[in-house]
Amino acid sequence: ATPTALMVGTAKSAKMGVLIKNGEVLEKVTDIDTVVFDKTGTITIGKPKVTDIVGDSKRVLTVATSLEESSEHPLATAIVKKAKEEKIAPVKVDNFAAIEGKGVKANFNDHTALVGSNKLFANSNISREIQDEAEQLQNEAKTVIYVGLDQQVIGLIAIQDVPKPSAKAAIAELKKRGLKTVMLTGDNKNVAQAIGKQVGIDQIIAGVLPTDKADNIKKLQKAGNKVAFVGDGINDAPALSTADVGIAMGAGTDIAIESGGIVLVQNDLMGVVKALDISKKTFNRIK
Ligand code: ADP
Ligand code: MG
Repeated sequence: ATPTALMVGTAKSAKMGVLIKNGEVLEKVTDIDTVVFDKTGTITIGKPKVTDIVGDSKRVLTVATSLEESSEHPLATAIVKKAKEEKIAPVKVDNFAAIEGKGVKANFNDHTALVGSNKLFANSNISREIQDEAEQLQNEAKTVIYVGLDQQVIGLIAIQDVPKPSAKAAIAELKKRGLKTVMLTGDNKNVAQAIGKQVGIDQIIAGVLPTDKADNIKKLQKAGNKVAFVGDGINDAPALSTADVGIAMGAGTDIAIESGGIVLVQNDLMGVVKALDISKKTFNRIK
């Protein structure tokens, strides 16, 4: 993306793949005591794969792929790919709509189809059996997508995304330097906790709607914390600009890259540690 070209970083950090917009950003990094991470695409690789289907898998996938064809969400991409592998063709739907942070909706063969989180359904429309299956899958760190027709859940699609290889080590390094680490995600609490455990994160804030991500950063700031936010998505842009330091993944969306004061070219969370160390060195030398 072009915004990267506008960046002036220290030669040293740039060489390490950490682009810092200006000296002011670099100085702010020295004060950071809390690092908040988005989950999908930031802590995790961001290439989720379908692992399990609960219910009549042909029916469940047909409904899901017919809607998700029109969505650009990484979860949608995983579902459409799985349907193609299973040679399941999408059906034409009407009145498609994305429901931000929750899922998608459309008319499917005269029924109202919903595909997304359980927030789209009243609890009573999900059988005990399906609820138990969902919980079990979530505890395996899988995101569960509910597929429903006319508010009745007909099946589940479990999708797994794995942490980046260096995520655990980077978080350990931050903790060693006395920083608090937090995961902020729209995903379900069980999934977030399972991933959080794998990488050793201190605190988890889950089930957050995209519009509430920046508010959660503000809350941490009001409690007296100096906050860095690390994210990649369109949804992350407000949180990136609200944080004391916004750190965007180089593979992220253009809007995220524009909103970040720092860009990590290699999408590697070790870049956060490098930025911290470089800023400390630079400002100790000046003082
Ligand atoms: P994140 O914070 O992990 O980037 P989002 O805010 O994009 O997540 O989405 C939160 C949740 O909403 C997802 O975990 C999923 O349950 C649901 N969701 C959002 N978009 C879709 C979609 N296109 N298809 C299915 N589920 C979706
Ligand atoms: Mg993300």
